[in-house]
Amino acid sequence: MLSCSATAPGKVNLYFAVGPLRADGYHEVASLYAAVDVLERVTVRSAKAPGITQSLSVTPGSPVAEQVAAGTFDPALVPLDASNLAYRGALAVLQEQGLRLQDISVEVHIEKAVPVAGGMGGGSADAAAAMKAMNAYLVQADLVQDSVPRERLLELAASLGADVPFALLGGLAVGLGLGEKLTPLEVPEATEQLCFGFCPASAGLSTPAVFRELDAGREAGRYPAPDPVLEVPATLIEALTSQAPLAERLPIISSLLRNDLAAPASSLLPELQSTLERLAHQPGVAASFVSGSGPTVVYISPDKA
Ligand code: ATP
Repeated sequence: MLSCSATAPGKVNLYFAVGPLRADGYHEVASLYAAVDVLERVTVRSAKAPGITQSLSVTPGSPVAEQVAAGTFDPALVPLDASNLAYRGALAVLQEQGLRLQDISVEVHIEKAVPVAGGMGGGSADAAAAMKAMNAYLVQADLVQDSVPRERLLELAASLGADVPFALLGGLAVGLGLGEKLTPLEVPEATEQLCFGFCPASAGLSTPAVFRELDAGREAGRYPAPDPVLEVPATLIEALTSQAPLAERLPIISSLLRNDLAAPASSLLPELQSTLERLAHQPGVAASFVSGSGPTVVYISPDKA
């Protein structure tokens, strides 16, 4: 039985400035994406049933496993149908290769590690991992000769969601446009990595609902107006990529973190505010922030211990 697996990382946004609501309903952003070592794994394997079937399991030791233990993970939140981002990623590669659903019989299995609807791009990571796994599967199954090249994969990824191209690339990158126009940042091997901790919330937040609250709050003067120019500060990029000791860089990084979605996310789910306040008084926590549209709260520790 042929089986191809691939992983893609969850992400946090160390900087997320959101522009005004556009006529098409989208917002331009200036985002600094950082991949985290919480990985989604997707396996594409031969199956009996024609087309694409799906299944899901939870990665032991992951933040989702913690949610399972706390009774706050609801697998029903992950739709195992054609709307699943892993399914859409796999299908996009299949169609790009000129194949149809009736040409294959595969199961797409998702191993979930990144909290669902947590602002950490778990669904986007599934899409990216499924694209890579399906790309390898079709070649190994002799259904096609050549895999889809990386540049084309990135284009297909952007059509699935603004965070999917970053999930394909990983690392550290600036995202402009809707977040999909990526500039990967070179991080020298010797650069000490940031240590993140994650506090998954007891409920999820819908990304569109958080953007709607931001727009309404800006209109009412509850949140600051958007910046006239959307860009990630060069000082933050420098502090993240320099080889100076982490202890020197952390105060700079902490002072430059920004997320325009944090206040609207906290207003929709007030427990975020108390989590942030609790972390502010915690020894060993250099900074804490809401990831993306929340509600996962992320903290940075000065060291792994
Ligand atoms: P982002 O930060 O990119 O907005 P998120 O991390 O907050 O996303 P996801 O876990 O990616 O949220 O999923 C958001 C919604 O997408 C879920 O509530 C679910 O209904 C739907 N969804 C579709 N496919 C998946 C998938 N493979 N994993 C999780 N959710 C999925």
